[in-house]
Amino acid sequence: MSTGAGAGAGVTVRVPAKVNVQLAVGAARPDGFHDLANVFLAVSLFDEVTATLADSLTVSCTGPDADQVPLDRTNLAARAAETLAARHGISPSVHLHIAKNIPVAGGMAGGSADGAAALVACDALWGLNTPLAELLDICAELGSDVPFSLVGGAALGTGRGELLTPVEAGTFHWVFAVADGGLSTPAVFREFDRLAEGREIPEPVASPALLAALASGDPEALAGALSNDLQPAALSLRPSLAATLGAGVEAGALAALVSGSGPTTAFLVRDPESALKVAAALEASGTCRTTRVASSPAPGAVVLP
Ligand code: ATP
Repeated sequence: MSTGAGAGAGVTVRVPAKVNVQLAVGAARPDGFHDLANVFLAVSLFDEVTATLADSLTVSCTGPDADQVPLDRTNLAARAAETLAARHGISPSVHLHIAKNIPVAGGMAGGSADGAAALVACDALWGLNTPLAELLDICAELGSDVPFSLVGGAALGTGRGELLTPVEAGTFHWVFAVADGGLSTPAVFREFDRLAEGREIPEPVASPALLAALASGDPEALAGALSNDLQPAALSLRPSLAATLGAGVEAGALAALVSGSGPTTAFLVRDPESALKVAAALEASGTCRTTRVASSPAPGAVVLP
């Protein structure tokens, strides 16, 4: 992961989006975070982050949603570069270019993906050879979903979602419907808390049926086991998502759910042909802005040759 690059050379890292096939949310903790049992699958929808040596830390971005991506120090890619540089006592002299394909504020961990990619790219560019365990530490500091973006594949996340255990997963096919505008993850958690008022919230635990279905590679079994505790909150804030979910199921998806905190919706389909059919029907339905087709599991952050 950490081959030093010569001066002037850039390092490009490809990084996947994620979908949560189970997102079990516990009650709010005293620190405001929620304990989660979060089963992540990396999907073949990728951003690419290119790091090149520069006089100071700058960020640029291209892609369909580029205008929604901050280019200042709040960009997770910039924060990753700063954090890595600070740990090594060097200055973060790098230009980061994000080729953005993952929907922004869509519940697919696009910002987290760019953070993980920038970390791996800067580590290689600066020839630091930071051990993986330390990179994962920095990832967890940057955000709950960032460690998974780095490792990819399929994993159970506990704690805030940052404590990862790999899980076995066969190949599955997906369609994602991208909504107009984003949903703020903290706002969706606040809505979860509001809807949960006065109710007893059970400890979040991974579902044995879900893990068995994932390992089996059987899409029908997985369809029956998908769950997302944030879905009622996302639907409450964005009621129009119900029509998108319905349109995908009507078009032949085996199951439909909100991806993470939304508003992207995810449709599990039997095979790649079915994915194209469901994507076309969703686009024709007028219930989403656009669609993407992908498969899982996808590898985590990798340096491109
Ligand atoms: P998650 O699924 O992890 O909750 P998300 O996919 O819903 O995240 P992101 O695409 O990560 O959402 O964007 C959330 C917000 O983070 C954006 O509205 C943007 O202001 C900010 N942000 C910071 N860095 C980035 C980045 N590199 N790409 C996209 N958004 C970023």
